[in-house]
Order: sequence, then C-alpha cells, then structure tokens
Amino acid sequence: MVQYHTVQQLDSGPRAGAFVYTGGNDRIGRYVECCSDAWLEIIRTPVSERDACAAWSRIGHDTADEAYAHMREHLLERLSIDGRLADWSGCIAPVGDGICDVPTKRFAAIRPMYFQRPLCDEHRTRETVEAMWDGPGDWSGSW
Ligand SMILES: [Zn+2]
Ligand SMILES: [Zn+2]
Repeated sequence: MVQYHTVQQLDSGPRAGAFVYTGGNDRIGRYVECCSDAWLEIIRTPVSERDACAAWSRIGHDTADEAYAHMREHLLERLSIDGRLADWSGCIAPVGDGICDVPTKRFAAIRPMYFQRPLCDEHRTRETVEAMWDGPGDWSGSW
C-alpha cells in the first residue's frame, strides 16, 4: 500500500496550522512522523480529552523547513552503522573529486529505505552520512 511522505499543516486541534512531517494516505489516514512521540501521546488520549493533552506543546513547527529538518534529525538518530554485506563493495564516501573506494563488507543504513550505502570503517559515521544524504524530502512508497 502506497504511503505519501511530505510536510503538511495540522488541520485541527490546538496546533492547527503548524507544520509537521507526515506519512500515510487517505485510506489509513495521515500520521505525524517527525514529532512522533507527542503524536502517539495525543492519539492515545480519548477524543473528548484530546485538545487538552499536554503533548500538543511538543508537536508542530512554524515553517515547513523546520518540519523537514526535524524529520531529518529523527531519521539520522536511527542511523545504523553495523550492517554487513555478503560480498565486498567499494566505499562510496565522497573524497576529493572521487569516492573513497576502500573495499568494505559493511554498510550504513537508515531504515527502512531512506539510505543504504557501503562505507568503510573510516567513513561509516553520522558525519559522512549527513554529508551524503540530503533527505528525506518528499517521497512515496510502500513497505
Ligand atoms: Zn516535528
Ligand atoms: Zn571510505
């Protein structure tokens, strides 16, 4: 089932108009991905008490750019650098005008499908991934 990931404005509740990074679709509904802890707290609150939920103070951003940046931060925190490949690959970290190309059997990944690249021991770091990856942006897909 295809889901659409993008920034939109909350259309109801105490923070209506605030920008959030969302996933989902018309069938299952939209859900907040960037401020997800606050969102879970809110949707677990009975509907009649929802507007009074304290978690609203932790959800939503003043601009779309801030919502994209928050989602990026959220995903970079999920970066895993312990992936193992069956075969040797060349490290594809940018170095000067080319790539590192040191043989490696390891990869860095932001799951489920945001980022996955073979990187050598030296380059399998958050700093390298931040420089290589400008996501998440807008995208649609299913998993
Ligand atoms: Zn957020
Ligand atoms: Zn490397």
